[in-house]
Amino acid sequence: MRISYSGLETFSTCPAKYKFQYIDRIKTPKSKDAFFGILIHECLKLFHDPSRTTPMLEDELLKYFTQQWDKDVYQDSQEEAFAFHQGIDILKRYYLQNQNQRFNVVNLETLFQVPILDHQITGRIDRIDKLEDGTFEVIDYKTSKKMPAQEIIDNNFQLSVYYLGLANRWPLLEKENRPVKLSLYYLRHGEKLFAFRDTQEIKKTKEKIVDIINQIDKSKFEPKSNSLCDWCQYQSYCPLYKHKFIKEESPTPNDQRMQDIIKEYFAIKDRQSTENKRLTELKRVINLYCDLKGIDRVFGDEGYITRLPQQRYSYNLIKVKEILEPINKWNEILTIDKTKFKKVIDSLSYDLKKQIDQTKTLKSEFKVISMSRKK
Ligand code: SF4
Repeated sequence: MRISYSGLETFSTCPAKYKFQYIDRIKTPKSKDAFFGILIHECLKLFHDPSRTTPMLEDELLKYFTQQWDKDVYQDSQEEAFAFHQGIDILKRYYLQNQNQRFNVVNLETLFQVPILDHQITGRIDRIDKLEDGTFEVIDYKTSKKMPAQEIIDNNFQLSVYYLGLANRWPLLEKENRPVKLSLYYLRHGEKLFAFRDTQEIKKTKEKIVDIINQIDKSKFEPKSNSLCDWCQYQSYCPLYKHKFIKEESPTPNDQRMQDIIKEYFAIKDRQSTENKRLTELKRVINLYCDLKGIDRVFGDEGYITRLPQQRYSYNLIKVKEILEPINKWNEILTIDKTKFKKVIDSLSYDLKKQIDQTKTLKSEFKVISMSRKK
């Protein structure tokens, strides 16, 4: 299979979207975010263009951005103005941070291809620099609003695939185990986060790629609800969004009735959430009062409220296995599912129950509050 990094990522996020985009090849209008990201990338490509004889001036950079800006991509003029200023801010910050730096840019927006088993993995790297110590740096620009934690960068799949792309172009890098700095440049924050990959991580990346491709081969391309659904360009094709479009295009009285039901459902959930918060607060105050008075039951005109101690235990699974395996009960549990576990334990003799009991240790202790209404 020939598949791009974006294809792998899209399938992992939502198989249905992968099908619409890469198999059915449904064309959709360019999203606002895509337009914005592409234009900023173009500006930075110009800024770093190695064929330039003189460094680019800030005015030149901003002029290019302004000339290429297409306000019609945005429906809301306030949103358009905000996005435009964000773009100017990003470029000004980038210019300020980078104008006096010397870069040895090896490639810009370079395509790569990596063979893994029978497959070809492709992608595009925004920038590759050669650093002063002779090592390479891969840089990918991000225009996203959020900047992730370092831990996410350390495990970032995109960077691992880009490493493979670089190592395929210059195999000595992998053979000689030369470090490659893998950076994500968060342009809105002016921060470049980076990580390195070791042999073990590279092996895992290759396994992950093969695993995703195997999943694609077997997939029924079901929709997978995710945090990016709200911005998905394929909503009108997606089974999960079918009702949204039926409702807008040809509403029936039943659809109107459903709107009222949905409204009521949300209202009840909101009330429940407010009341749950208040209940938690009341429990906290009751507990404090009981602690202060050294009691576990409080009386009111409506009835009384009792708090009872409860314990949570965890079992030593190695020991539990040693007890249950000889009597062929371990297979009935396998994973410690609470219900199965209780069922098996209840079926044991007193002695065995006692042995299992001895493997447990107290995990937490807390008080449960219950109420009794006056008869
Ligand atoms: S709307 Fe969500 S679930 Fe539907 S195709 Fe797009 S990403 Fe997948």
